[in-house]
Amino acid sequence: MESEKKLSNKIDGSELQPGDHIYSWRKLKTYAHHGIFVGEDKVIHFTSSKADSGYSSTATVSKNVSKKKPCTKCGYDGKAGVIETCLDCFLKGGELYRYGYNISRRRLMFTRFGTCTSVSCGPVEDTLRRAYDYLKNGYITDYSFLEKNCEDFAVNCKTGLTVPTGADTNTLSGQPCFLRLMEKPYLLAAYPIVRIHEDSKLRKICPKH
Ligand SMILES: [Zn+2]
Repeated sequence: MESEKKLSNKIDGSELQPGDHIYSWRKLKTYAHHGIFVGEDKVIHFTSSKADSGYSSTATVSKNVSKKKPCTKCGYDGKAGVIETCLDCFLKGGELYRYGYNISRRRLMFTRFGTCTSVSCGPVEDTLRRAYDYLKNGYITDYSFLEKNCEDFAVNCKTGLTVPTGADTNTLSGQPCFLRLMEKPYLLAAYPIVRIHEDSKLRKICPKH
């Protein structure tokens, strides 16, 4: 199993394959930004008007938006929504990681939220088709860190899964789960169980089609 090979998801740029779900940590690993590598140094990703600022306070963000100088490589100027940029603009100086799919439950227990899932992904062509479709037509919903964020976007491109309206959890992604856990530190003792539980909930509410 390809996904079982490595315990760390960290990869070198030369290992990248079109259709890979990649991520990069921001702000001392408090959250990660996710996207789909589409080949030729390009990444399609979903950002907020807060420039993939994640779960930060709003005080520091809005002023940075449209003031960004366009990237000399890809022309990215800080615009929000589904965007295609060069890998450097995606990484912002951070390291490159590949999200794991089809991870065994035994291994999942010891992984961090927002780095892998037991759900399997579909063929590369489907991932790329979805990513380009969202780039052209926009994502199914507006950006929201706690509801529909960059990780949801990438998981959706890889799997086709979407969370039905009114589901008891409103995100596919692990980062909000991690934050909820941080609010209840007593749950940390049961971390492996919580991790599996959240992941299986994802599969339950989002049956593959
Ligand atoms: Zn760029």
